[in-house]
Amino acid sequence: MDIDTSPEELDTHNYDIGLGLNSVVEVALGKGNAYGIIRWIGTVPGWKDISAGLELEDEMGVSDGTFKNERYFTCPPKRALFVRLSSCRPDSRFQSVSANHNEKIPKLEDTDMGLDTDFQKTVAPISPEQVNHLLIGRMRGIQGHHNSCYMDVALFSLFSCSSVLDSMLFKSTTPQDAPIQKTLRYDIVNPLRSKGFVKGQHVMNFRQQLERHGYSHSFTTDEKDPEEFLTVIMHHILALEPLLKLSAAGKVQESYCYQIFLDQNHSLVLPTVQQLLEHSFHSAGLKLAEVPSCLILQMPRFGKKFKMFDKIIPSLELDITDLLSEGPQQCILCGNLALEECTDCFKDPVFSSTGFKVFCKTCSSQVHSHPQRKSHKTSLLEVPKEYVGHSLSHCLTRDKLELFAVLCIETSHYVSFVKYGPNNQDWIFFDSMADRQGERDGFNIPEVHACPEVGMYLEMPLAELANQVPRDMKGVAKRLFCDAYMYLYQSTSMCLYR
Ligand SMILES: [Zn+2]
Ligand SMILES: [Zn+2]
Repeated sequence: MDIDTSPEELDTHNYDIGLGLNSVVEVALGKGNAYGIIRWIGTVPGWKDISAGLELEDEMGVSDGTFKNERYFTCPPKRALFVRLSSCRPDSRFQSVSANHNEKIPKLEDTDMGLDTDFQKTVAPISPEQVNHLLIGRMRGIQGHHNSCYMDVALFSLFSCSSVLDSMLFKSTTPQDAPIQKTLRYDIVNPLRSKGFVKGQHVMNFRQQLERHGYSHSFTTDEKDPEEFLTVIMHHILALEPLLKLSAAGKVQESYCYQIFLDQNHSLVLPTVQQLLEHSFHSAGLKLAEVPSCLILQMPRFGKKFKMFDKIIPSLELDITDLLSEGPQQCILCGNLALEECTDCFKDPVFSSTGFKVFCKTCSSQVHSHPQRKSHKTSLLEVPKEYVGHSLSHCLTRDKLELFAVLCIETSHYVSFVKYGPNNQDWIFFDSMADRQGERDGFNIPEVHACPEVGMYLEMPLAELANQVPRDMKGVAKRLFCDAYMYLYQSTSMCLYR
């Protein structure tokens, strides 16, 4: 063995060590770096050197896997590129979290922090126009590491394209909590929004900080639930105002997430989120004390063990007008100011399948003169004084929240959907562990891809949607409809950057 050769020297002369089929690599092209995966290695006619066939992340290639009319592998058009294997470098956006790997791969500039003097800037969420080039592809999103998927999907969903909880990044904190907020803002949210990629190591640092903080001893090791993580960070660490103020029997309760519960005798089969929320509020006697800026809803299921419904239909808009404890409401029959609510009428199929049943005095007495409804007990609504005695215009504005993300679970792995734009097709799917490179010392490859098929199903008539066989549904649609765990809604009027 040549003891004069230092490990550094060896490394710099053997870049291609460890590169093989399916390695994630970069190559320098005239127009900048191209990133891709080695799909084929061998020799091609006319080239002496060992060549590599790359499947690029972007359409910077020459073919769909052919070279001089000979097919070597198959990929989407313009994504295949043939280069010398020796000109491939390990993907510099990734630095292996394993110590072993670091010895083999030359130390690369930490691009997220290093020379980038702008990294402390405030970065706005990714706009619908930017999603395509910034966020979609392999090695995009947040890189999963060691059971981190619950945290990856929660962070990705909240911060990639929405600013609704950016107060988490900016609110003043105690000195002891400031480092955690800094990690969240500078090492996770900023790179996610500016580069579309966050290294697994950054999320691991974040988890280690949370663990040192003492709220849980297993943040770095165990699979957890997103709501546990979100509550710890929002409540215990950043001391954020509770997102949700619920009133029940005159008392106000506060929380960060809302777990949907249903009583036994509901008749829902293929419910919408709107119906689930209404039924849950109805059976618990709850109202919203105010319009929440962000509403985090947990579906009636227990992790992967039990789910109450085979499919749930995401309501793109959640109409919460009826769920507010105060504020004028319209009689569901005539549109005048409602003064009474009937909880018995709520489940009566004679009325529409959504919305609490509120009536003006006249309509209520008419409805309840029917023999079947004589026994109903109505309750008086809290109506703001300024409305009483005045006729209500028919164009009362309704309070609505919009869906911006859905977290799903299947066989204890979390993935998420983000609705990133105004169009029906504007959906992306994120998996922080979509693929893996190497075994124990390897790393996960996160991936974000467009899933416009979801929009197609959401436009279907309910009866047709009900008949869809989950395993036959296109693309990732089955996961959205069948595996939903948590829905994230935001108030459109309260977003920071709009
Ligand atoms: Zn009426
Ligand atoms: Zn009634």
